[in-house]
Order: sequence, then C-alpha cells, then structure tokens
Amino acid sequence: MQKGNIGVTTENIFPVIKKFLYSDHEIFIREIVSNAVDATQKLKTLAAKGDFKGELGDVKVEVKVDKDAGTITVSDRGIGMTAEEIDKYINQIAFSGANDFLDKYKEDANAIIGHFGLGFYSSFMVSDRVDIVTKSYQDGATAVKWSCDGSPEFTLEDVEKEDRGTDIVMHLSDDCKEFLEKDKLEGLLKKYCHFLPVPVVFGKRQEWKDGKMQDTDDDNQVNDTTPLWTRKPAELKDEDYKAFYRQLYPMADEPLFWIHLNVDYPFNLTGILYFPKIKNNLDLQRNKIQLYCNQVFVTDQVEGIVPDFLTLLHGTIDSPDIPLNVSRSYLQSDSNVKKISGYITKKVADRLAAIFKTDRKEYEQKWDDLKIFISYGMLTEDDFYEKAKAFYLLKDTEGKYYTLEEYQSLIKDQQTNKDGQLIYLYAADRDAQYTYIDNARAKGYNVLLLDGQLDTPVVQMLERKLEKTTFTRVDADTIDRLIQKDEARGEELSAERSANLSAVFESQLPKTDKTTFHVEAQPLGEDQMPVVITQSEYMRRMKDMARIQPGMGFYGEMPDMYNLVLNTDSRLVKDVLEKSEAATSEALKPIEAELRGLNARRQVLQAEQDKKKYDEITDDERKDMEECRKNIEAEEEKRKGVLADYAKDNERVHQLIDLALLQNGLLTGEALTRFVKRSVEMMDVEH
Ligand code: ADP
Repeated sequence: MQKGNIGVTTENIFPVIKKFLYSDHEIFIREIVSNAVDATQKLKTLAAKGDFKGELGDVKVEVKVDKDAGTITVSDRGIGMTAEEIDKYINQIAFSGANDFLDKYKEDANAIIGHFGLGFYSSFMVSDRVDIVTKSYQDGATAVKWSCDGSPEFTLEDVEKEDRGTDIVMHLSDDCKEFLEKDKLEGLLKKYCHFLPVPVVFGKRQEWKDGKMQDTDDDNQVNDTTPLWTRKPAELKDEDYKAFYRQLYPMADEPLFWIHLNVDYPFNLTGILYFPKIKNNLDLQRNKIQLYCNQVFVTDQVEGIVPDFLTLLHGTIDSPDIPLNVSRSYLQSDSNVKKISGYITKKVADRLAAIFKTDRKEYEQKWDDLKIFISYGMLTEDDFYEKAKAFYLLKDTEGKYYTLEEYQSLIKDQQTNKDGQLIYLYAADRDAQYTYIDNARAKGYNVLLLDGQLDTPVVQMLERKLEKTTFTRVDADTIDRLIQKDEARGEELSAERSANLSAVFESQLPKTDKTTFHVEAQPLGEDQMPVVITQSEYMRRMKDMARIQPGMGFYGEMPDMYNLVLNTDSRLVKDVLEKSEAATSEALKPIEAELRGLNARRQVLQAEQDKKKYDEITDDERKDMEECRKNIEAEEEKRKGVLADYAKDNERVHQLIDLALLQNGLLTGEALTRFVKRSVEMMDVEH
C-alpha cells in the first residue's frame, strides 16, 4: 500500500470545505454524478473515434445507498482511472493564493469548488471518508482503491475490480445521515440530475402490489437524457412543448407561448422559454427559469443573469458558456452571461413580433395575459421597448385592440386639443367610471381600458416617448375640459353669484382628512349632470405611482383631491341658486355692503403701496393693509355662515351632493344611510 499527501498548498482546505460550505453541501451529489456522466461520455467519444474497441455495453450511472454501512455509492462504467491518473487528477490539487481566495469566498461553496476544479472534493462536505475504486478502460489496467478520511493524507492500493469504471463510495458523517433517506436523495437527484445525458439509476422502480409498494425489475431512472431543448424544433409539436412544461411545472396552467432558443454563434445556447399564464402577481412566479450547463443543473436564481423582466418567464436555458461553479456576483459580471442576456431579450422580442404578425387574432386573445411581461420589459429595457412598440397593444373599453400607431391615427381627428396635444382618454375601471366613459363616447371620443398593474408607469413612459401625447383619465375633468378646444361655451355666472353658489354646496360637503374638495361653478350644458365630481390627473397619478414605487411615499400620504363642479346650465342648480339668493338676500345685504367698502379700501391701499419701493412702505401702511385683509376675511366668513345656515336644511343640496359622491363610490357609512333615508322620505307624496 502506498501512502502520501494530497498536494494542497494549504493544510486547511478540508476544514474549509466542511465548515464554510455547509449551506450548499447538497451539491456534492451533482458534482459526483456529473463526474460519472463525464467519464461515461468520454468513453463514448473514444468509442466513436475508434480509440476504444471494447464493448460499451450498458453505460448507466448507478446511485446506491447502504443504510447499514452508512454509504452512498456512485458507480459508472466510464473511462476509469489508472493509479497515475488518480495521482494527477485527484492528488495534485495545485492552486495558488488559496488563502486569499478562501477568505473572500468562504460563504460560497460554488465559487471555491469551481475555482479549483474541486468538484470531487465536495464529497468531503458530507463524508468522513471517501473511497475511489476505479479501473481504467485501457487494456491490462489494474484496479486501484484510493481512500482518504478528510485529512491531507490518503492511501492508494491495488484491488480486484471486474468491470471498468469508477465507484465513488462516500461514508457519510454523522450530521449528514439525512442523505441516506431514499426520498431526500431522490429529490436531490431529480433537482440536479434531472436532464443529465446518461441514464442515472437509483434503485428499482416501485409498484403497488399485495397491499404495499414493491420493487419491480425495472431500473428507477431519475433523469431524462434528451430533454426537449436538446431536440430539433422542426421535429417537435405543440403537444411536446406543453408536455415538457407539465414535466417542469406540474401545477401550472398551460403556457401562453414558448420560444425555443438555439444558437451556436457567438456562443452556445439552447433552451425553451415559456410565457406562463399569470396575471397580476408579479412576485409569485419569479425564478422559475432553470439554468443548465451541458444538461447539469446550475441554478434557478436567474436574477442578474437574464434581464429582470424575463425572470417572470418559465423554462430552461442551457449553455456550456455559463460557468458552472461560480459565485453569483461572478456570474453577473461575466461577459458571456451579459451577451446571453442581450441575446435572449432580442430573441423574445423577435418571437413576439413574429406571432403578432402571423396570427394577430391569437395574439390579441392572449394579450391580457401577455401584457404584464411586455409592459415590464418595455419599462426596464430600452432595447426591448424599441422592438416592442410595434406589438404593444392598447385595448379600448369596448374590447378592441390597437397598436400604438393604429391608435394614434384613430383618435387624431377627434382628440387633438387646441394646443396640438393628442389626448388619450382612459378608464381604470369600466364599471366604476361608467358614466364618464359613456359621456366621452357620446362626444365621439375613444376610451382606453388601462386596468393593468403596470399601466400607470407605462403611461408615464409613453408620454415621454411619444410626441405631443397626454394621457388623461375620463374622470379627470368635465367633459368639455378633458380635451380643450376653442369652442363657444355657455354663459358664466358673475363672480359674486358663483361664490354664493359654491359656498352653499361647499358648506355641506363631508369633512374628512382623507379627502378634500375644491368647488367651482361652470356651465357644462343642459344635458349634463347638475353636479360632477372630477379628480385631477396629476395628483391621482402621483398617488398611483406612490403605491408601486418606493420613495414616493410623500404622495401616498396626501389626501385624495377632488373637484366638485356645479353645472350652472342645470335647471336644478339654477333653482338652488335663485332660491338661496332669495332666502338670504336680507341677511347678506349688510355683509355685502361692508365687503364692497372693504374691497374698495384695499384697492386704494394697494395702489398706494404699488407706487412705492418695497422698503419705502411704512409699518403703519402695512398694518392698515393687514387690518383690511382680516376684515374682509371675517366678512367672507360671515357670508359663508349665512349661506351654510340656509343650505343646512336644504334637501336638494344634500341630495345633489350625495348623488355625485355616490356615483364615485365616495358615499359610505353613515352618510350613505342618511342619503337612503332622505331619498325614501322625498318619495313620500305627503312630503
Ligand atoms: P473537474 O471535474 O472539474 O475536473 P473534479 O475534482 O470533479 O474536477 O475531478 C477531477 C478529475 O478527476 C476529473 O477531471 C477527472 O479526470 C477525474 N475524475 C473524477 N471523477 C471521475 C470518474 N468518475 N471517472 C473518471 N475520472 C474521474
């Protein structure tokens, strides 16, 4: 028997492997099984080239558990190793700067293992001792057994082994006995070895017989050696893609579309990406793409490797150019990985463009589900936006779909305002904003339905990207002012009457700190409602953004701001105004006389001040002005008080306000109950 030291320049590689790599230690199974697969593939290659003339035979890799002995054995019938090869490939782990590197990456098993080509040594993460029993494929080779207990010392001896190939026997340490459990190990094999290109067998397939599960004579093969992405797209049918999807995600709905990636220049990459059917739950389905390197599973944490919006897709990507054993930060800065990312973005865009072109009907049918991916992509990747703007669809409230270009020409004539801005009208809720939509359509406008989770930022983006374009929600203003044109409008009230009318209504509005109302009087036309509530686009949109974008919380805290517009063309509003003026004119007369005097005085004071420079104005003059202002304010309050007093018991005012609130979902609780009661009372003929 031969003894020796493993050629590690630092003594502490094993403690490091065992201790620091704890979190990732299940990857040992991937490393050992894929070494066995590699050895098998190498022999197949030699056979194909005629360098190996023996019988290949059954070349599966077998994984066996011996619970009593506490071992997991991985056996292959690949090329095996001679004693010299063991010395060269296993004993001489030559590396430099090891300490620095270990320090830097001690949290990251993959990085260390990959950096040093220590795949085999990962077995020591779970084992007290590892034996290699191996016989080279070469004629006349003798079998050898290498054994090591995790110290830098190993033994090497000749043994009897009938067949070529290698057995790796791992004597599991006490704290790793869990890997001896059949279900646990099978789960790991399924995760890491699911698509390895050589059959991997774990015991026998079981069947239900005589009241219990029993082994059959068939191998329990855990992997599929020719996963769909390795096959030619031309040979595959839709059903194959759907079946593969079910294999990957047994619980998911049928996918919308898929893209079969297949490139060999400037890098090698194959894979299948699926657009899953998800709607508004962005986070739920992240990280469903599995990354492979030559059919060996690498990771399903693909953030930073594929563009962010594509982390929402499902499927597999396989590239020998994706480094297998490296840390995430390394992966993200790797130039191949970057190229891959750009390539995938382009491919996805091209495929969507092709589906849109060849089968627009199908594309439209799936648009509602697709929209979130495309919106997200356009928002986060400029390159994607440039391509996607041709197949991004706008859906109107009648369910028709338009490209951006089509929509522009559709609304150009009707919806250009006097400043040449094209106004895109939209609703976020077809039911809640029904009246406003109806009104806009009656006017010959088209109304879009923007009810998607990302529509607010998409609107912001489109306004930036498209020229002379403004998006306005249908309830953002009264119909005439939504798209301002130089049209003759109804007669406006005098300032004084307008103020009186506003005061009557304003005094009776609900007072909460969550909502504020600005009241104004406007002629909206006889056919319009007497009282209309609108909500300015800007504030509402900022609040919507605050909900999805961190750092805008300030807007989220603001109250909801509404405009209450009193339609002075409405018979009912006119009547309220006339009656309130009649009822309050006596009480208002002295106040108005006082106000006229005060206003005149203020004008005089102002005129005098205007003649002077700012620092020439005396303190007395300032005081006078201040005094005058205060008096005006006080009189105004008095005036409002008189009108409020009148309005307090005016059922019509209350009813008109409540109806407008109701129409906007703003009438709730006690106020709603009062409204219902009042309505019933008003229907009473005795009333
Ligand atoms: P890597 O696989 O990255 O080269 P490993 O530490 O996993 O690093 O393996 C080192 C070498 O040992 C391999 O390159 C291979 O030559 C040899 N080896 C490992 N496992 C086997 C095996 N089952 N059969 C034949 N050779 C093997």
